[in-house]
Amino acid sequence: MNRGGPGREIGDPAALGRRVARRFFKMGERPPVRAVAEELGVRIVEEETPPATQPNLRAEYRPSPPCIVLYRDPLDRLAAAVHALQRFDMLACHVDDVHIAHELFHHLQHDGRFGPLRPEEEEEAAHAFAQELLGLQFHPAEYPETG
Ligand SMILES: [Zn+2]
Repeated sequence: MNRGGPGREIGDPAALGRRVARRFFKMGERPPVRAVAEELGVRIVEEETPPATQPNLRAEYRPSPPCIVLYRDPLDRLAAAVHALQRFDMLACHVDDVHIAHELFHHLQHDGRFGPLRPEEEEEAAHAFAQELLGLQFHPAEYPETG
């Protein structure tokens, strides 16, 4: 794969995220997100509360060994907020799965395999990856603020 040099144009980060997600489809079908994590050797663990410095952090990727941490309290607050909103597009997918999918993109990009991405580009690509992998009818950034 040509990684390009510094400043290489990566084009549209959302298109990149969607393209990468489709690589995991099996016979055109969306795989369960936890199966993708397992295939990639990424463990999923849960902790009750996020670090005190980031009280609203809902999930994060830790590279060594590769693992995704789901922070139960903020995720449960988000799930309750989504339920209160009665957003049926959001209720169609578990908030845990959306966060796992998002963090999986950070795992895939950890070694810079998709070229240099600015932090905001990587976030946009990770959102689009989650959207495509799970077939979401909404953009993950539309989740309500909680805290
Ligand atoms: Zn992210």
